[in-house]
Amino acid sequence: MLPRLIDGFGRVHNNLRISVTDRCNLRCTYCMPEEVTFLPRDELLTFEEIARIVRVAVKLGIDKLRLTGGEPLLRRNLDRLTAMLSAIPEIKDISLTTNGLLLSEQAKALHLAGLRRINVSLDTLRPEVFRHLTRRDGLDRILAGLESARTIGFHPIKLNAVILRGVNDEDIVPLVRFALENGFEMRFIEYMPIGAEPWERAKVFFAHEIMERIENEIGSLIPAPDYDPRSPAMEFCLADGSGRVGIIASVSRPFCHHCNRIRLTADGKLRNCLFALEEADLKSVLRNGGSDEDIAEVFRANVAAKWEGHEINTARFIKPLRTMHAIGG
Ligand code: SAM
Ligand code: SF4
Repeated sequence: MLPRLIDGFGRVHNNLRISVTDRCNLRCTYCMPEEVTFLPRDELLTFEEIARIVRVAVKLGIDKLRLTGGEPLLRRNLDRLTAMLSAIPEIKDISLTTNGLLLSEQAKALHLAGLRRINVSLDTLRPEVFRHLTRRDGLDRILAGLESARTIGFHPIKLNAVILRGVNDEDIVPLVRFALENGFEMRFIEYMPIGAEPWERAKVFFAHEIMERIENEIGSLIPAPDYDPRSPAMEFCLADGSGRVGIIASVSRPFCHHCNRIRLTADGKLRNCLFALEEADLKSVLRNGGSDEDIAEVFRANVAAKWEGHEINTARFIKPLRTMHAIGG
């Protein structure tokens, strides 16, 4: 029996991204449709089911978790799940990706539950652009949430921004400045074809263009000395030592050949790629009395079947039926 999750291309998987809900309190245009039917509650994995899956996964080499969604802070008592997962000794790292709207209310409980690292999505500092991109209000609450998280002691706090040409590319420099002033780490993400709207390549603001903006207006970027080439984000330091910037260039520089991630959707499906067209139904295995070995077998088979990489840049690309909010970003 293979003790690790190794696919046909030799990639070892140690990173599990767990979506705890498909619900969201924003409606980001690049992520989800405006009108959406969410999963019925009994379709969601319970905390006990998630913890059981993770306890099996750690025996297969998973040691890194990220909680995501939808908006994970909408899942009631997320701190209880965080504490359950933090207590699993093999887990070396647990982090959260959130839109930050509910962070002020929950940051303390999450910190007490053992969470230390968070990524907060923030695409703009301009309220009107925020409203356009997210179809909702709430920028002030996110900024307040960031302040709470910083005061409570989360570290690092990373800010994620998806940049769409002609929509928020003017925010690149202000966002970097905001991050530097507040001790946050700025990360830019290339716009990927995984939302509800038809994807337009022309709207992708590419990594080299992001770098150019920063270098022209703030200062030179040098590769971070501790940069791990297997990480999806290219990591840079500002040459004057004032901070770091990461860029996730999923379109212009796919990192598939180093991919170590698998995803668990809120309704208990295992996906071996963000763009996977097939899923393995773990929830049915659990709810039909499957053993831990049965769960492990689903993991192994799902990872073994992983393709070499996404095909965004080819004519063969097929967009998955689920949009980002229902997969878990
Ligand atoms: N609601 C949380 C949030 O926004 O951080 C967690 C879930 S969200 C799906 C996770 C990440 O996916 C966010 O940083 C978001 O910006 C990113 N994302 C969503 N749609 C995307 C797209 N089409 N291209 C690139 N990133 C995307
Ligand atoms: Fe919600 Fe996050 Fe998707 Fe925005 S990116 S709609 S906040 S899940």
